[in-house]
Order: sequence, then structure tokens, then C-alpha cells
Amino acid sequence: MNFCSHCGSRLAYRTPPGDDRDRFLCAACGVIHYQNPRVVVGCIPEQGERILLCRRAIDPCYGKWTLPAGYLENGETVAAGAERETCEEAGARIEALVPYLMFNICHINQIYFMFRAQLMDADFQPGKESLEVGLFTEAEVPWELIAFRVISETLRAYFRDRSTGVFPFAVADILPAPDHVRRMR
Ligand SMILES: [Zn+2]
Repeated sequence: MNFCSHCGSRLAYRTPPGDDRDRFLCAACGVIHYQNPRVVVGCIPEQGERILLCRRAIDPCYGKWTLPAGYLENGETVAAGAERETCEEAGARIEALVPYLMFNICHINQIYFMFRAQLMDADFQPGKESLEVGLFTEAEVPWELIAFRVISETLRAYFRDRSTGVFPFAVADILPAPDHVRRMR
């Protein structure tokens, strides 16, 4: 961030008085431009033994498979955001949302909040961010072609919990190292 979105002056990056970390601040108008993590909301849409995955039509990870998920909008609840993303990316409608996993991804300033949900019907089709949409059993999931580590971790947890039929809410950290996930129950 170079310029103040309030007055157009050049910004400095330093610690404001009374604060404990550097911020983008404007010496001309005094506005401090705080930057905070973004929230990604999504779900695992279930239909019987199968779950719905979308194949990405956009970068990053063009052509790889993912769960419906995207940035929460202002004024939106996390559940409404998950429903909207599922509709936008998969043309699908969901119900009976249950909070399932929350991931801290501190190194990219993101929080992922994932629900389990029931597909309301078999009426779905790819939205403009998806190449295709499909239903997969555990054996059919294209594990080598999953778009993001947070998604493969979500799927791994889901199929592990499904073997017991119990899906406790959990919080986990996705760390920068390639295979570091810390789980807290
Ligand atoms: Zn300013």
C-alpha cells in the first residue's frame, strides 16, 4: 500500500503512538490503514456417500479440485457466505449446515471456516469459476489434484471422522512447512 485511500498522500509504514506493531499510516490526514486477516467460508456438500467437489476454472490452481469456498463479504454471516459460494461455484443449494473445521493460516493472513452441509437436490452445474462439478466417494476423490492444502486437510478429516460417524468441531493451524498441521480439539 503506497497511497492513502482517504486523502491520496504517500503513506508511511511504522508503529503509531501507543500501538505495538507497524501500520500503514498517513501523516497528512492521520488515518491509520489497519490490515486484518480475511475470512474464507466454505462447506463440504454431502449427498449420501458422496461429496461435491468443484474443478477450478481460475488461478491459482487452475484445473484442480476444491470444495466450494470463498471470501466472506461484509454484512454476511459465515453460513450465508458458505451457501452463496456453493451456489456461485457449483450452482448447488445446501441446507443443514454444521460448523466443522476452522483453520488458522497465519502466514497468509487467512482464516478458513468450513461447514458440513446437505445438498438439497441433484441440481448443480459449474459456475463461472468452475470447469466442472461432481460427486465423489472417498475412493473417487482425486487426492493428487486437490487445489489447496487446507482443502485436502478438510477432506482427510472429514473421511476420517465419517468412519466413526462423529464430526467434532476442531480448530487447526496450517503452517508454512509443507506437511505441518497442528490440530486442537
Ligand atoms: Zn491520508
